[in-house]
Amino acid sequence: MPLADALLDALAVLFPVDCAGCGEPDRSVCDGCRAQLVPHVARFALPDGTPAAAGLAYEGTVRAVVAGLKERGSGALAGALAPALAAASAEFGGGRTWAVRVPPSRAGLRRRGFDPVAMLASRAGLPVLPRALKPVRAAGEQKRLGLEERRTNRQGSLVAARPLSGIRVLVVDDVATTGSTLAEAARALRAAGADVVGAAVVAHTPRRRRSTDTQGTPQ
Ligand SMILES: [Zn+2]
Repeated sequence: MPLADALLDALAVLFPVDCAGCGEPDRSVCDGCRAQLVPHVARFALPDGTPAAAGLAYEGTVRAVVAGLKERGSGALAGALAPALAAASAEFGGGRTWAVRVPPSRAGLRRRGFDPVAMLASRAGLPVLPRALKPVRAAGEQKRLGLEERRTNRQGSLVAARPLSGIRVLVVDDVATTGSTLAEAARALRAAGADVVGAAVVAHTPRRRRSTDTQGTPQ
């Protein structure tokens, strides 16, 4: 047994937790549930046509572990899900591509006190471009912008926090359901001059399974 595993077992005895996937008293993710977090990358497209990839389907165990991460902010849960984000990101090549995360809502961040997507990106080893996007909300912020910018802003809820000309970026998030938030992030990044190569998520809501889905092919 690797040392890290032994340590986790010791911690589980000292601080018992339930498996985030199945609820059994165990480590934060039991071996059975961990086996269901092995990435099966599926490609899909955002509503605007931006190519996207998900490491897992957002259902069952995956859904439960993602919910657990959002509740507990546990590094172990982030570590269990990170390979899925890393595999999805790898679909878009590595070199000189920055990961840009969809910014957390301020309310969510305040409530939780931690940032699940930042934890996932870090565990997945992605080079994160910090504070690239920000929400467009405050009236004061709108007032400071020029007329043209304001017009552009009406299209969406996000804006780039800085010029991004010529920078290759990959939008990352934990879960894609409709993909509209990721598409909005891609739009805001392109508006700032970024070259958006795609979007990568831990998991996405599978629509009707099609034969083209990678996850539907026999192993
Ligand atoms: Zn379990």
